[in-house]
Amino acid sequence: MPARRRPVAGAAVLAALCLTAAGCGSGGALPQAGPPAPDSTSPAPPEPSASASRSPSGPASPSTAPLPSATSAKALPKGPLTGRTVVIDPGHNPGNREHTREIDAQVDIGTGRKECDTTGTATDSGYAEARFTLDVSRKLRTLLEAEGAKVVLTQDGDRPFGPCVDERARIGNTARADAVVSVHADGSAAGNRGFHVILPAAVSGGGADTSKIVVPSRDLGERIAGKFVRATGSAPSNYIGGGTGLDTRNDLGGLNLSTVPKVFIECGNMRDPKDAALLTNEDWRQRAAAGIAEGIGSYLTR
Ligand SMILES: [Zn+2]
Repeated sequence: MPARRRPVAGAAVLAALCLTAAGCGSGGALPQAGPPAPDSTSPAPPEPSASASRSPSGPASPSTAPLPSATSAKALPKGPLTGRTVVIDPGHNPGNREHTREIDAQVDIGTGRKECDTTGTATDSGYAEARFTLDVSRKLRTLLEAEGAKVVLTQDGDRPFGPCVDERARIGNTARADAVVSVHADGSAAGNRGFHVILPAAVSGGGADTSKIVVPSRDLGERIAGKFVRATGSAPSNYIGGGTGLDTRNDLGGLNLSTVPKVFIECGNMRDPKDAALLTNEDWRQRAAAGIAEGIGSYLTR
């Protein structure tokens, strides 16, 4: 998701960016690939069956409305996240580019109106953000399910476009998720590097009320940021967040309309060649998913 623009922060701010003691491995250097993760040779998670997850007669939680891509009927291993529900929101949709009329329709985001969804960005070589977000989200699902969590994706490449941002929020709310993470990559200027986590601002009115989620969402976001640094070797953004890797926004419907703890993560800048080299790398995406999973796990077992 191309973020709103902010002045480029000086490189010096990176020196003060460590979020947690464990997250200081990159020493304030510009983002770079860390050592290969021990599991980097693991096979990619299986492609989900789109037909199964879309079927109206497919698995559905008895206590909630039918949800897309729910795994409620899947036999999950017992683990530290057993009994917890995580909603993963893969930003955009690869099909959005063919449905510009639908995704340009305005929806209420609490603080105003905004387009239903956007196409997202892409690397200069044409690797779409929507492909990136789906891949990381599926890897993340595999990791969280292995720890016992029930995982719901807001879309799994199983619908022609969207969902709209308001529906993305409702899916997390309806699932009564313990945590929701929206996965993105940014589209900023070359030279702008690193990741940042976006936290919900305190907003109310227009159907939005984030008063109960601001504090827990910050906790979730800080944990994800700290683990993401360690897992990927990437540094917090050098252009948003003043080196903290954290940003707060009130213009995102997916956050404004959430009633459960939720953050966005912009995993890197697709328009920067060095970040793009990471984002297009399968092993790096596995590490990114691992970092996010560890952050969610830390939050849910705090
Ligand atoms: Zn995005």
